[in-house]
Amino acid sequence: MPPLLSIEEALARVLARARPLEPEPVPLAEAAGRVLAQDVASLIDLPPFPSSAMDGFAIRAADVPGELPIVFRIAAGLPAERPLEAGEAMEISTGGTVPEGADAVVPIENVVAIDNRVHVPEAVATGAHIRPIGGDVRAGDALLAAGTVLGAAQVGALAAAGIAEVSCARRPRVVVLSTGTELRPPGEPLDPGQIYESNGPMLVAAFEAAGARVDRIGPVADDEEEHRRALEWGLEADVLVSSGGVSVGPHDLVRRILAELGAEEDFWGVAVRPGKPIAFATRGSTLVFGLPGNPVSALVAVELFVRPVLRALQGDPSPGPVYETARLAASVRRNATRDELVRARRARDGDEFVLDPVTGQESHMIARAAGADALVLVPAGEGELAAGEAARYLRLS
Ligand code: AMP
Ligand code: MG
Repeated sequence: MPPLLSIEEALARVLARARPLEPEPVPLAEAAGRVLAQDVASLIDLPPFPSSAMDGFAIRAADVPGELPIVFRIAAGLPAERPLEAGEAMEISTGGTVPEGADAVVPIENVVAIDNRVHVPEAVATGAHIRPIGGDVRAGDALLAAGTVLGAAQVGALAAAGIAEVSCARRPRVVVLSTGTELRPPGEPLDPGQIYESNGPMLVAAFEAAGARVDRIGPVADDEEEHRRALEWGLEADVLVSSGGVSVGPHDLVRRILAELGAEEDFWGVAVRPGKPIAFATRGSTLVFGLPGNPVSALVAVELFVRPVLRALQGDPSPGPVYETARLAASVRRNATRDELVRARRARDGDEFVLDPVTGQESHMIARAAGADALVLVPAGEGELAAGEAARYLRLS
């Protein structure tokens, strides 16, 4: 094996190849989770008219305290048919258009209204409870910047500003390929020596959650022809992610056949545990990850490298991985030469989390990993990280 890259170096190399894909129009209803490819300005003043912040009465501040006739009842969406004259009141609902001539709204709680007259016992400040035109944002003003990840509030703001469609980098097409003669799909009986194929479903779940469109091939046997056919097809995608077959065994065919198909290997081997034999290659604009077959190794590689690439391809300027910090609940031995991602559970300790490593840290133990919700980064070195020490970790979703 060539010298191992550090996690940071490997991440920098993969991200250097992950330019945002070309933008496409996206209807607002499908925009959640996408990343804006362009700045967006508001199409309208928001609010588009002076509107009432309360249920109450539109009046002139100069006319109160006093008793005023109620000359109109304004509902949201149904403005008054004429301006308010001096000495008049109009009933108004929250969101109703404040009529011309009025300069304040008195909340219903602060008045006594009987039949068609309203008694306002106290003075009212000019402008009270009126939301001015454009008080939230003005027509033509910046609403959201390119690179914004659209969450619920952003989708709401776009809709409020009258925007029905946005421009976002298209979602990457990913092919997930599982290799291994021993693999059977869940739902079928296992023959001796076989195990269930778990990386395929796991990778599909991870990549769809990251915003990709995913197709899956395999499992394919450790056979050159089968590998060649499957890899050739996968190389048509934006990102090809294989699992298995990247170690040094006689049945590890992925790297050699990728090379035969014209993929150029950028690196093979990262100083990380688990996940060391990860390979990264490119062919044209296609990015290729050869992940190790052990399920926890594959999972770690997804969190460290593949998810960030999928986010970067969608234009996310902070594609991750995002490390947080918390204290360890128990000590963890360090590996002398490789950074380790230790599966842990986050437990509440007052206002903080503590990280409790799960038992069963071997790279085939996906069932144990399923009980974890964090990957704790234990830097390579001598000795241990002590209980109570702060550690960086990634959240597993
Ligand atoms: P490999 O990297 O092909 O040498 O595989 C390493 C280990 O991971 C072996 O025990 C394989 O059986 C297992 N493995 C490989 N691919 C998968 C998969 N898709 N699902 C579950 N286990 C796998
Ligand atoms: Mg294999």
